[in-house]
Amino acid sequence: MDFELSKEHRAIRDAAREFAQKEIAPVAHEHDRNHHFPRDIISKMGELGFFGCLIPEEYGGTDYGFMGMVLITEEVSRFSSSIRGAINMQCTGTAYNILKNGSAEQKQKYIPPLITAEKLGCFAMTEPNAGSDTLSMETYATYENGEYILNGTKTWISYATVADITILYAYTDPDARAKGLSAFILEMNSPGVSTSEIDKLGTHSFPSGEIALNNVRVPQENLLGGPGEGARILFGSLPDTRIGCTAGAVGLAQACLDEAIKYCKTRTQFGQAIGNFQMNQALIADVAMNIEAARLLLYRAAWQKDQGVKNNVLETSYAKMFAANVVVQAATVAMDVHGAYGYSTEYPASRYYRDAKMYQIVEGTTNIHRLIIGLDRLGIRKANR
Ligand SMILES: Cc1cc2nc3c(=O)[nH]c(=O)nc-3n(C[C@H](O)[C@H](O)[C@H](O)COP(=O)(O)OP(=O)(O)OC[C@H]3O[C@@H](n4cnc5c(N)ncnc54)[C@H](O)[C@@H]3O)c2cc1C
Repeated sequence: MDFELSKEHRAIRDAAREFAQKEIAPVAHEHDRNHHFPRDIISKMGELGFFGCLIPEEYGGTDYGFMGMVLITEEVSRFSSSIRGAINMQCTGTAYNILKNGSAEQKQKYIPPLITAEKLGCFAMTEPNAGSDTLSMETYATYENGEYILNGTKTWISYATVADITILYAYTDPDARAKGLSAFILEMNSPGVSTSEIDKLGTHSFPSGEIALNNVRVPQENLLGGPGEGARILFGSLPDTRIGCTAGAVGLAQACLDEAIKYCKTRTQFGQAIGNFQMNQALIADVAMNIEAARLLLYRAAWQKDQGVKNNVLETSYAKMFAANVVVQAATVAMDVHGAYGYSTEYPASRYYRDAKMYQIVEGTTNIHRLIIGLDRLGIRKANR
C-alpha cells in the first residue's frame, strides 16, 4: 500500500492547480454573480487535455485514468464547483460512456470533439416524475424506417441549454421495463428538441435545464449499445460520474476549509485572532479531519477503477455520501467563522454554501447512497454485482 501520489499524478495535480489559480480563481466569483457560463474556460480545459483522462490516445485522450481525472476535478472545484462540472459533462458521463458502449463510428465521431470541448455534452436521465426512481421515466422511442422517434421531457439536465450532444435514455419497449430501456446519442440541434433554463440556488456558472422532445427523429446508428441495453449503460455510467462528483465535493470542501482558516487568522475580536478561540479551532479540526477521510475514500474508489475493478458501487457510495455530507459541513463552518461576512456576497463563503448543497442531491441523493450501503451490509441486495 502506498499513500503517496506518483510523480506523474503530482505533475497532473500541479498543472491543474496552476491553471485553476490563473484562469479560474480571478473570475469565478464574478461569473457566478452574473450567472455566466464561461465557454472560453471550458475550451481551454479541453485544449489542456483535462477532459481526456479516461480516453486512450487513439481518440486524442491523455489516458491519465480515474486518479488523474479526480485530481484535476478537485483542483478545479477548489476555485469553482460550477466549472468542475464540465469534466463529467465532457468526459466521464459522455465521451467515456461512448468509449465503453459505442460503435467504432460513434467513437470516431463523438469522442474527439467532446474531449477537446469543440462540442459540449450532457447526459439525460431525470424527468419531472422520475428522479431517484430513474426507471420510472416516461420518455419513449418508437422505431420507424431506420429511425427512432423520441417523445418526452427531461429535467434538471446539466448543460441542457448549451450542449451539442446528449446521451439520453428512453423506453423502446416500456412493457419490458428495465430490459426495454435504450440509450441514444442525440444531437441537440435535431428538429423537435427544445430547451429552457432552470434558475437555481447555486452553481450559477453551470447551466441546468429542461429538454423537451417532440417527435425527435434519431437515426438508428445513434442508438448507444443495442436496443434494451439502456439500463446496463446507465447503471454502468453512474459509478463513473459519481466519482467525478465526489472529487468536486472534496475540492469544494477544501476551498471552504482554506477560506475558514484564512479568516480565522485575519479577523480579530476581543483583542486576538478568532482562530485563538478553541470553539473555532474545534470547527476547523473536525472539518480538516473529515476532508482527509473523504479524500481517502475518493482516492480508493478512483484507484479501484484504475486497477480494473469492474464493480465498486459500494465503495463509490461510501465516498459520494461521505464527501457530500462533509462539503455541506465544511461550507457551514466557513459561514460560521465568517460571522456576518459569511452572509455577504463579498467573501466566497456564501457561494460555497450555495454550491455545497447540490452534492447531497445529484448523482444519487444521500438517502439513495444510504440505501445502497444499508441493503448491501444487511445482505439484502449486493451493491457490487
Ligand atoms: C444541479 C443539479 C444538476 C443535475 N444534473 C443532472 C444531469 O445532468 N442529468 C440528470 O439526468 N439529472 C440531473 N440532476 C437530477 C438529479 O439526478 C436528481 O435531482 C436526483 O436524482 C434526485 O431526484 P429528485 O430531485 O427527483 O428527488 P426525488 O427522487 O423526488 O427525492 C426526493 C426526496 O426523497 C428521497 N427519496 C426518494 N426515494 C427514496 C427512497 N427509496 N428511500 C429514501 N428516500 C428516498 C430523496 O433522497 C430526496 O430526499 C441534477 C440535479 C441538480 C440539482
